Amino acid sequence: MRKKRSNRRRGGQTGKSLRQQFVDFYYHPYCAVCDRAVQPPLPSPFVCRDCLSVLPFRMDREQISWAHPWRLFATFYYREPLRKMIVSMKFSERIDRAEAIAPFMCGTLVRNQIDVDAVIPVPLHRKRLSERGYNQADLLARVIAREAGISVVDGVLYRDIHTDRQSESRTVKERRRQLADAFKLDQRSPLIDELRGRQVLLIDDVLTTGATLSAAAKPLDEAGIRVICMVAASDKEKYQGYHEIIKDWTSLLDRRI
Ligand SMILES: [Zn+2]
Repeated sequence: MRKKRSNRRRGGQTGKSLRQQFVDFYYHPYCAVCDRAVQPPLPSPFVCRDCLSVLPFRMDREQISWAHPWRLFATFYYREPLRKMIVSMKFSERIDRAEAIAPFMCGTLVRNQIDVDAVIPVPLHRKRLSERGYNQADLLARVIAREAGISVVDGVLYRDIHTDRQSESRTVKERRRQLADAFKLDQRSPLIDELRGRQVLLIDDVLTTGATLSAAAKPLDEAGIRVICMVAASDKEKYQGYHEIIKDWTSLLDRRI
């Protein structure tokens, strides 16, 4: 929700108001996909109408089934042009991409009637964080929390075990074993007691095997915190549509014969 500024035009606010009018008139946000000016209002202030129509929304497949007790949602498939936006957010310091992506994740919350008390980003190990300088999950979490009017919980969940990039390419089984106890709660944090019995949204950028997200959810759940998992993008169940098309196509062939 944006605050209206029109009631502050009188008195000492004249200079500021003129400057604001200038900014409003000449400045348009630019599309995070194609770099053209965006003419609001649109669901994300940083995605233009044309690019909106090609984003890989999951829509009625936002809720994903997996082998864990926590509900899991993904807003997009991990396909272009969304993939490019996430890669640049993650590796090219385009932290502004979070402002473009996260409003759509808020839409997923609303569509699925998800009511949470706080947002927790999946943390990076401190070594990875110092290499990258920021946590992309944290960027998304902050925009979602701001839009939903709730808080981001810092310093409760942390990543204790660092996995190098080579280990990320190992088998799912090996990776899961390695990650199983990778996340811990800082038992000194008074927030643990405050969150007990409440519902939190655990946020990550991309879900592949689900090993990281489920490992992060585990200690929260063990502390009595109710967890809902959410990612910007996942290709899980991506081929369901393809299989449906093939099935439909073969049944048409059968009918023709
Ligand atoms: Zn665009």
